[in-house]
Amino acid sequence: MLEDKLIKLKGLIERSEHIVFFGGAGVSTESQIPDFRSADGLYVKSSNRTFSPETILSHSFFMSHTSEFYAFYKSNMIYEAAKPNAAHLALAELEVRGKLKAVITQNIDGLHQMAGSKNVLELHGSIHKNKCMSCGKAHSLEHIIHSEDVPKCIECGGIVKPEVVLYEENLDMSVLDRAVKAIASADLLIVGGTSLVVYPAAGLIDYFRGTSMVLINKDTTPQDHKAGLHIHAPIGEVLSKCIE
Ligand SMILES: [Zn+2]
Repeated sequence: MLEDKLIKLKGLIERSEHIVFFGGAGVSTESQIPDFRSADGLYVKSSNRTFSPETILSHSFFMSHTSEFYAFYKSNMIYEAAKPNAAHLALAELEVRGKLKAVITQNIDGLHQMAGSKNVLELHGSIHKNKCMSCGKAHSLEHIIHSEDVPKCIECGGIVKPEVVLYEENLDMSVLDRAVKAIASADLLIVGGTSLVVYPAAGLIDYFRGTSMVLINKDTTPQDHKAGLHIHAPIGEVLSKCIE
């Protein structure tokens, strides 16, 4: 059964010339980066109050509890030793072959770029981009990791903020616009490792006008009916078999 589906996907990839991949947290879990949304018990206590991850990762919490934000962020959102897995590598290879035109991701870990992908649209930003809130100077991830407490700007001493989209913040409109255009011009859309429940990102797939949409996920999703082909198997295994 799985074998038949893999043959079908392989055929679709061979016949397509404008493939777009849309991925979520499930792409990174195979690199041992947990999906914090599914991680129960990720709660932080501060001044006798308990905060949920959604509260901590919000704009207002960053502004009011910057130190607590960074304590949580550094230990739960940054995985310095994480390496690209078979899914990242297969997608990079499809781009080299001229088949894949864009990777759209909800992940912030930069693993697609580490695997060699060039056209990566990061809907929720990246842990590798950090900016001084006062003067705008860019800072590396290493600067964040090696700062004690709140990272400060090396030029002006201002607070450095990750360019990661926090709760209460809007997505970057230029990234969103490029993602819409990529999906609208795709002939094959491969969606993987996402439960497609996070809007507005999840609504992006509605812009797809091509003939084939493939969903690769370990579990079923509310959007399964929109896909012509569902493959419920680990994404790294599926994609690497399709490029053999
Ligand atoms: Zn500065």
